[in-house]
Amino acid sequence: MVVIGGGFGGAAAARALVAADPRLAVTLIEREAVISTGPGSNAVIAGLRDAASIRFAAAAIPGVTRRQGEAVAVDPLARRVRLGDATMLDYDRLILAPGVDIDWDGLPGYGRAAAEIMPHAWTGEAQTILLRNKLAAMQDGGTVIMSIPASPIRCPIAPYERASLIAWFLKTHKPRSKLLVLDAKEHFSNQANFQAAWKALYPGVLEWVGLPDGGRVTKVEAAIGRFETEFDDHRADLGTIVPPQRAGAIAVAAGVADRTGWCPVDPATFESTLVPGIHVIGDAIIAGAMPKAAHAAGEHARACAAAIVASLGGAPFTPMRLENICYGLAAPSYGFSVRGAYLPNGKLLNEIAGSAKTSPQDAPAEMRAREAEEADGWYRQITAATFA
Ligand SMILES: Cc1cc2nc3c(=O)[nH]c(=O)nc-3n(C[C@H](O)[C@H](O)[C@H](O)COP(=O)(O)OP(=O)(O)OC[C@H]3O[C@@H](n4cnc5c(N)ncnc54)[C@H](O)[C@@H]3O)c2cc1C
Repeated sequence: MVVIGGGFGGAAAARALVAADPRLAVTLIEREAVISTGPGSNAVIAGLRDAASIRFAAAAIPGVTRRQGEAVAVDPLARRVRLGDATMLDYDRLILAPGVDIDWDGLPGYGRAAAEIMPHAWTGEAQTILLRNKLAAMQDGGTVIMSIPASPIRCPIAPYERASLIAWFLKTHKPRSKLLVLDAKEHFSNQANFQAAWKALYPGVLEWVGLPDGGRVTKVEAAIGRFETEFDDHRADLGTIVPPQRAGAIAVAAGVADRTGWCPVDPATFESTLVPGIHVIGDAIIAGAMPKAAHAAGEHARACAAAIVASLGGAPFTPMRLENICYGLAAPSYGFSVRGAYLPNGKLLNEIAGSAKTSPQDAPAEMRAREAEEADGWYRQITAATFA
């Protein structure tokens, strides 16, 4: 078994495979020695957490061979993976869990050089720290502009948590400043809760412009802080871009991504519908109703490993019920959650009727504080389970 990507999905899959059958030879390939997580990074940007608190050594899992390096090619016929140092690894089954890459062609004017001026802070610690530092350095009275792309993206709730925590930072540390959020969507995850929180906590600080009012950014000019939308032109003292995304590049190289940039899979076994013998899990897949989230990636891993072990033993496999929970913070001690359960249906994962639960809009302050604490507990638990 070879697993590519040692993030939330891949590490969980490697762990589940050896737990299910310790005789399996499992190799986990991860290019980074140290991983900085997406969850928690919005709090780092707002100065609520230290960058070191979301940084973990890549998982060293008992019974799993760890290879640090980048997988650069997959030969599905020979069932072989090539690493950047030209090492070849043969596999019987391959699991790809590469997460997302930024689609650098997705927003005119935005590229690697522009990201040094208008950070995306969506992948990698350097970008998170860059945005934190630029926010801290901006003069009071400045305007931050944040652009959010159309779906699908990694963690649909995260842009709105980020907007909230940037607004919290401005209100607390630079009270004459403003945040303008330009959104290519009309509706978003946990919208009623976020918008109620913004109204209560950040009046005059955070302004959200959705798709019907010209929120879709069509072009940026980073050097002059310019955001062009379908209706208007805006200038930022500090710009930040939630970038358009696609499956990690190795998925494209392996032939498991389709023209959308994402990977179609059998939603019960997570085997690619394009290339037999390769399974894809986590953010990289076309998942239907199940959001791209760390929790979800771990659930894909659990089902995928069980399906592989069953098929190796010639046993039947019953599709599993998968769950997800996502927490969002609107401020410190002000959290809410959205949860759901999912079952394979045709090519996608469908939400089970009645399983969706969102924190109530009229929740008292104690419940918001409790959910913020639960978010912290969830983070401690999932990072310990993934990286310990
Ligand atoms: C700002 C932000 C906030 C978020 N908050 C939450 C949250 O509160 N709750 C939640 O559930 N989710 C959250 N997420 C989403 C979460 O980070 C992802 O859903 C999760 O990481 C997906 O897991 P994955 O295994 O698919 O990808 P990842 O965890 O990104 O793992 C992919 C790994 O593969 C490695 N890799 C990629 N290509 C190769 C290659 N070719 N060779 C070797 N290694 C490779 C990468 O280095 C990476 O470590 C957030 C994300 C962001 C950006």
